[in-house]
Amino acid sequence: METAIEEVIAQAREHDATRVHRIVLRIGALSGVEPDALRLAFDAVAKGTPAAGANLELEAVPARGRCTDCDLEFDVDSDFIFTCPKCGRIAGELVQGRELELARIEMS
Ligand SMILES: [Zn+2]
Repeated sequence: METAIEEVIAQAREHDATRVHRIVLRIGALSGVEPDALRLAFDAVAKGTPAAGANLELEAVPARGRCTDCDLEFDVDSDFIFTCPKCGRIAGELVQGRELELARIEMS
């Protein structure tokens, strides 16, 4: 998760920003990221940079799977095994839910 935070700081430097106001991060339900831990890490990494004190918003991304047989997309709550609710096929592929990415950044 430090990569996402470092990306914020790198962007701020690149744009010669004096202050980052708002940061929106997209966090997948299966990314393993704890919002509280992320905020703590952010505070530590951002300290002394233009991103210090920025309003950090976390956007939750639900996990979705897709059946490789019938192409149905459905919600999943585990990335180990999931079963298609339509045809019952076990496994399939994860469409979303693992992301930890920078969605928006506002700076001046
Ligand atoms: Zn299916």
